[in-house]
Amino acid sequence: MIFELSEEQRMLKDMARNFAVKEIAPFIDEWEENSRFSRETFRKAASLGMAGMYVPEEYGGSNLNYFMGVMVIEELARSARAMNYLAVHNMVTRQIFLNGTEEQRQKYVLPLAKGDLLASICITEPNAGSDINAMLSYAVRKGDDYILNGTKVFITGGGESDIYTVLCKTDKTKGLNGMSWFILEKGMDGFTFGKPEKKLAFNSVPVCQLFFEDCSVPAANRLGAENEGFKNFVRSINGGRVNVAAEAVGGSQAALDAAVKYAKERVQFGKPISEFQTIQHMLADMATELEAARLLVYQAAYLLDHNLPATKQVSMAKRFATDASMRIATDAVQILGGYGYMKEYQVERYFREAKRAQIVEGTNQVQRNLIARELLRD
Ligand SMILES: Cc1cc2nc3c(=O)[nH]c(=O)nc-3n(C[C@H](O)[C@H](O)[C@H](O)COP(=O)(O)OP(=O)(O)OC[C@H]3O[C@@H](n4cnc5c(N)ncnc54)[C@H](O)[C@@H]3O)c2cc1C
Repeated sequence: MIFELSEEQRMLKDMARNFAVKEIAPFIDEWEENSRFSRETFRKAASLGMAGMYVPEEYGGSNLNYFMGVMVIEELARSARAMNYLAVHNMVTRQIFLNGTEEQRQKYVLPLAKGDLLASICITEPNAGSDINAMLSYAVRKGDDYILNGTKVFITGGGESDIYTVLCKTDKTKGLNGMSWFILEKGMDGFTFGKPEKKLAFNSVPVCQLFFEDCSVPAANRLGAENEGFKNFVRSINGGRVNVAAEAVGGSQAALDAAVKYAKERVQFGKPISEFQTIQHMLADMATELEAARLLVYQAAYLLDHNLPATKQVSMAKRFATDASMRIATDAVQILGGYGYMKEYQVERYFREAKRAQIVEGTNQVQRNLIARELLRD
């Protein structure tokens, strides 16, 4: 499969790169240091069409396909992987567009795509991570409302976002076939937030617990049919995974660039360390893994865009690109030696940032389970 970028795709990639270089790179250290999310930067990204990438223009979006979307995410992640929050926002906007009623589209998709509202997705619970069926959050219908009780954990953008799509059980007897989605708004009675978590990285994005205590949600806010929540989740999860894989590719590119630059400049034993074969081989392996990861991501995006079977390739892209990113960031720190360990040289951030992507959107062990399931299918 050969991917040659069109003029339009190159322009989009350049737009995202310029935005990241001017609007993110100069500020990310301060945001990370002070755990500060910049709503202003999100609005600027939205003004360039990056908040509604996957929804049509009539709903305020840019109508990009995944192949183009992953290029945007890759370029943003080269400056800061915290831009994953923007990817999550885009997935929620798309989720409401795909599964929502026309009223929900008008009420939520339009302002989300324009960047007037910001969104989070809420699945994980204290007892239910990889094992979604173990979730305890439960919504019961009462007249024109559902009464929701439960707790979500590790929610990207928790407390900052205005809109939350929440998966919970609506029929406890049906397992995965007894789940539904609801659209919740910050400020609804019975909906509160825990303290922002202290984290390894990703500090410019708040992550916290969500609590629902007899939270009354209008039935008009159910997203999709009752008890079809898990089916809808399975249909959209591949998009989230390919986005995380693209984010990993961007992070890997940043780490490789920093390592190449440093290797050419750092002199030891009277010559640049780039002349040592050991360093050359590390760089060669990093570049090869990065290229393989990028091709897997492009392939997965292409398959999704063409409605072709993609589960195996998406899981391969997510698994490989995020594992490769961890290895590439680790080697970048090694190539910079002691300087690599110091904040001033950025690669320590790339190293810390790499870990999250191996865990979110289905851990890499879960991705291996999915790949094996596809391989062993009759
Ligand atoms: C920074 C961050 C942001 C996040 N943002 C969100 C968000 O916005 N919304 C949201 O809903 N969630 C979010 N999550 C949660 C994330 O999706 C979960 O952490 C992830 O799904 C894993 O669940 P868990 O942490 O409970 O781990 P567990 O499922 O308990 O897994 C623990 C270990 O066991 C392994 N394991 C589990 N089951 C199997 C199996 N069947 N086979 C092999 N190995 C297995 C896992 O791979 C892992 O190594 C976020 C997490 C982080 C760290």
